[in-house]
Amino acid sequence: MDVLADLTSLRERCRNWRAQGLTLALVPTMGYLHAGHLSLFDHARTLADRLVVSVFVNPTQFGPNEDLDRYPRDLERDTRLAAEHGVDLLFTPEAGAMYHPDHATWVEVPELAQGLCGASRPVHFRGVCTVVTKLFGLVRPDVAVFGQKDWQQLAIIRRMVRDLDLGVEIVGRPIYREADGLAMSSRNVYLTADERAQAPAIHGGLLRVQAALKAGEADAAKLALIFRAHLAEKLPGARVDYAEFVHPDSLGPVARLGAPTLLAVAVFLGKVRLIDNMLLEV
Ligand code: AMP
Repeated sequence: MDVLADLTSLRERCRNWRAQGLTLALVPTMGYLHAGHLSLFDHARTLADRLVVSVFVNPTQFGPNEDLDRYPRDLERDTRLAAEHGVDLLFTPEAGAMYHPDHATWVEVPELAQGLCGASRPVHFRGVCTVVTKLFGLVRPDVAVFGQKDWQQLAIIRRMVRDLDLGVEIVGRPIYREADGLAMSSRNVYLTADERAQAPAIHGGLLRVQAALKAGEADAAKLALIFRAHLAEKLPGARVDYAEFVHPDSLGPVARLGAPTLLAVAVFLGKVRLIDNMLLEV
């Protein structure tokens, strides 16, 4: 496995591979790898001849009061795990190398970025779209793999690629969970032991809603109350940032569930904000 931090070297290595007729898959990450990331690598390997993974804690997708400085990092461990999971090239740039001091170009999909996580993280998706566009330009992958855990991000990237004709196939992969149901996230390390023990209640709330839907309740407002009541009971210290029913592609609000609908939630446990979601089949 090659480990490169330099943009020119990355571009050249990928260009050489393409010149040999090899296809490339890209998985962008912020590192501190867990089994969810690794499940993306394992799948991505099956889709192309060479697998490129980026580990970059992208500063432009963090707001001023967010956790950029304390975001967990362990490049040594990430390098070992990536090598063990068939990554051919690990790209680990410094922020100063990724952005010119007078960087002035942004890629945005405002229509899909205003609700859900975008409501409390106004610059987040602009930062994500911009860095993903830069990575696509450097690597020129045939296919890029993203997790459904960040469903809104995946929907935005699909739209961006379509609208800008970027010519990259976007593949979404299922949420990888701990045995107790908690969605894996690099941010789970922030949780205290008590919070970690209670956090599976978020997934429990999603399952409770799924069961109520199966039992005949199709009113989104009532289903949202079922989620909130579950959390109030099982996770009394938590604060629900949002629990919303939306169309899986347009992310527009759904008032009554008559077609597959995404239930997307974000929950604060202390200062830690965790997201989860479930595609509800009707
Ligand atoms: P991150 O490092 O959190 O930016 O995530 C990098 C990629 O891994 C994104 O496409 C995420 O959606 C995906 N990912 C993160 N957690 C999970 C998970 N639990 N299951 C599946 N994919 C995930």
